[in-house]
Amino acid sequence: MSGNLPSSILIVGSGGREHALVKACLASPAQPRILAAPGNGGMAGEVPCFPVAADDVPGLVALAQREKVQFVVVGPEVPLALGLVDALAAAGIPAFGPRHDGARLEASKIFTKELLLRHHIPTAPAAFFAATAPALAYLQKRRAPIVIKADGLAAGKGVIVAQTIAEAEAAVRDMLEAGVFGQSGRRVLVEDCLYGEETSIHLIVSGRDFVVLPTSQDHKRVGDNDTGPNTGGMGAYAPADVVSPGLLGEIVRTIARPSVEAIAAEGIDFRGTLYIGLMLTADGPKVLEFNTRFGDPETQVILPRLATDPLALMWAATRGELRGLKLEVRPDPVLCVVVAARGYPDHYAKGEPIGLPGPLPTETWIVHAGTTQDVRGQVVSNGGRVLGVCARAATLRGAADKAYAVCDRIDFASKYYRRDIGARQLNRAK
Ligand code: AMP
Repeated sequence: MSGNLPSSILIVGSGGREHALVKACLASPAQPRILAAPGNGGMAGEVPCFPVAADDVPGLVALAQREKVQFVVVGPEVPLALGLVDALAAAGIPAFGPRHDGARLEASKIFTKELLLRHHIPTAPAAFFAATAPALAYLQKRRAPIVIKADGLAAGKGVIVAQTIAEAEAAVRDMLEAGVFGQSGRRVLVEDCLYGEETSIHLIVSGRDFVVLPTSQDHKRVGDNDTGPNTGGMGAYAPADVVSPGLLGEIVRTIARPSVEAIAAEGIDFRGTLYIGLMLTADGPKVLEFNTRFGDPETQVILPRLATDPLALMWAATRGELRGLKLEVRPDPVLCVVVAARGYPDHYAKGEPIGLPGPLPTETWIVHAGTTQDVRGQVVSNGGRVLGVCARAATLRGAADKAYAVCDRIDFASKYYRRDIGARQLNRAK
């Protein structure tokens, strides 16, 4: 199979997810040449990085042409929503990720909610508003807690789970009148609150075909014991036992397959990752959201568990050759601790020199997220989530112990990380 794989690849993005994609492609038996744009301080140590921003569609197309890349893997949602995959296709360059139409499944929560409701896929009931007065009138008829969502992309910040109607009214005003999320909040959803444990699954989709990736669980809140504000994700582990094989079967039957069918029935030829955020309610699993790309930090723990070459998987999906592909998964769990800058997700320092540990124990590795190299080649912090320390072991406890031992050896002034990644599953196992 590797004989048919692309021999040069451009990976678009600069986070931990993209560094994990770089590492996965570097490990491919196809031994492709790999480039990244814009990349980060860790990727720059492994592959050539080009200073083209992830939202610079013409710049990325020009780079891909100039470097004669045969395949582009798009990490983040913004370039997908901007139509990068369409623009590359027009230039004859295949890319992993949905086109603009499929990217709307993440870029517009109203579009997705309408699709879900139209196709009777389990999700919370919701109403949509572009003006304040009808939204406030609707709220008078509902009970708290209630969820207010900005329609568009808001870097993970556009969802308010309001505990009182007054809080919900304020969120509606913030979005529709004060414009706190700009264009993304020009329309809002008011959605009933769901209760249960949250989880997610990743599908690799190619039209009506899909494979389900191994389960994972991330940790959204900034503080130990799931306290403090929501973040992009403070750590993850895989597999996630909360999704038992029986539950996974139910999720595939009631949610994943109907969703893939619904998307195809709407005329969207979706090729890429469909991330389905779920609430496991007393009434069964329900869709919270779709993302149209890999999760971050879930990617950091999912890809290393694949025995199937992730590059082969992404290439097959892009070419419409997914049918019959059997996914092989390694048994050992993988865990990733995000090392952040204290103050994230609000205000935090950047530009701090990072002391990285020397040789790492076996099956332990570091992905870079918010880092860059300064003029002297020193790695410095450049974002809220700075590094991801990953480890694989025979047990989740073993993986956690290995990862945390490395976290302790990382040195920068505002280093902060959660101490309880994986704890829920580890405690459950007791
Ligand atoms: P979303 O981006 O739509 O997944 O929302 C972000 C987060 O808000 C989710 O991960 C949930 O924790 C929470 N959330 C979203 N929708 C609901 C809902 N209907 N009920 C309860 N919590 C929700």
